[in-house]
Amino acid sequence: MNTYEPPIFEYSAPGKIGVALPELDVPEAALPEELLRDDEMDGLPELTEVEVVRHFTRISQRNYCIDTGPYMLGSCTMKANPKIHEEMARLPGFAFIHPLQDEELAQGALQLMYGLQQLLGEISGFSHVSLQPAAGAQGELTGILVFRAYHLERGDTERVEVLVPDSAHGTNPATAAMAGLRVVEVKTDRRGNVDLDDLKSKLGPRTAGLMLTNPNTLGLFDEHVQEVSRLVHEAGGLMYGDGANFNAILGIVKPGAIGFDLMHYNLHKTFTTPHGGGGPGAGPVGCTDELAPYLPGPVVVKQGERYALHMPEKSIGRVKSFYGNFGMFVRAYTYIRMLGAQGLREVSEIAVLNANYLRVKLQDIYPVAYDRTCMHEVVLKGQIKDAPGIRTLDIAKRLIDYGFHPPTIYFPLTVPEAMMIEPTETETKRNLDLFIAAMRRIAQEAREQPELLREAPTRAPVRRLDEVRAARQPILSYHREAIQALRGDKADPDDVLIRPLGV
Ligand SMILES: *Cc1c(COP(=O)(O)O)cnc(C)c1O
Repeated sequence: MNTYEPPIFEYSAPGKIGVALPELDVPEAALPEELLRDDEMDGLPELTEVEVVRHFTRISQRNYCIDTGPYMLGSCTMKANPKIHEEMARLPGFAFIHPLQDEELAQGALQLMYGLQQLLGEISGFSHVSLQPAAGAQGELTGILVFRAYHLERGDTERVEVLVPDSAHGTNPATAAMAGLRVVEVKTDRRGNVDLDDLKSKLGPRTAGLMLTNPNTLGLFDEHVQEVSRLVHEAGGLMYGDGANFNAILGIVKPGAIGFDLMHYNLHKTFTTPHGGGGPGAGPVGCTDELAPYLPGPVVVKQGERYALHMPEKSIGRVKSFYGNFGMFVRAYTYIRMLGAQGLREVSEIAVLNANYLRVKLQDIYPVAYDRTCMHEVVLKGQIKDAPGIRTLDIAKRLIDYGFHPPTIYFPLTVPEAMMIEPTETETKRNLDLFIAAMRRIAQEAREQPELLREAPTRAPVRRLDEVRAARQPILSYHREAIQALRGDKADPDDVLIRPLGV
């Protein structure tokens, strides 16, 4: 690693070719004049197949992913994605179905969607589910638009405030603002719960609802959740459940039964469909009978033995083209059916056990944010005794040298030097012990050789990035001149902000 290889564009030479097309066996047709480009094409690399294959394979090897190591990124639930899901999603009947195919010819796909709606509803205690939203954040927007539609329908036009705890994920206030409502922050009490007095002082006739993550982003189950929900409902507001932390309570708590009116599920977190990489996620929403008419559609309904698409009567409309990210539905459905009710409960029990194991083994050197049994993730502080000047960022970077993806850091914003660690149920005890050993060794280094932390990472393809410069001067695609200008007089080719492909 850390060796300089020219980016793929620099391998390019005129006339190199990576494909062999067959002889043309139909008459050549000229393109219409108006479709022809009028300038010379510039910049597409000309390469051999092996160069292209090596380029992409090399990039893939630089990627840290759940298939290469533990990924204890708090709040993100980076658990292993069982490979059977991929086989199911690749079944030709699922993989090659066309979104415009006639309902009659898509009964299998509709049955699966209906089944997933039912299962998600059952697990969470909601009577209705829409699979439309493409991610948790979109589920949030959907939910708040549903809340607004519900209030407006009742002539309740003054409800323009959404209450959001100060520990909330940034998508919560962003959602409320995007929906055109006003965000009102609610404080956290000393035990990490919603501060009831602060809540009471902020509820009123302008309250549209409260967005609550439970367990919350401090990894704690709100001890007063039912009281919170009673207060919000008394004020005429609705309870939004951010279901990103559902992995802690599967088969144990049904959010629909403890006062939530609507909740999103992150299939890519709790239900092991792959995360990110720019790829599709899925953030279905479940809700009560009262809110169901407003759900985005189409949803799948069962009419006798037939499955049909249905637009709820007062729907807020579509939030996604066609039906949502269908391939993710196949994976999540497979996961739930493979595990069954008992298996899902065990998922949460082990996820919580693993997080508490880390908490107990690390809290003597990394102070806990809240001294309580945690749920599926634990929030520690990167404040090591006798190591002034070492910050959470340094610890996170050093973890990379030990082969671990760093946990979530500096979130929640209310905890100074936060490290939010979520091991998930799919890490073995051996891996947890290796992580604990790395964290303990890093604390020792912090006291004895702090420069090791400040210089970290030293064993990654890129060294520590200048984050301010990266934000101010992002270079998101390969431009030779820009990269050269950035390197400037620095000879070290690794010292760039965003590496061009292949470097
Ligand atoms: C991940 C997350 C979200 C957003 O979900 P996406 O699927 O990433 O859009 C919202 N809230 C919390 C607490 C989360 O962890």
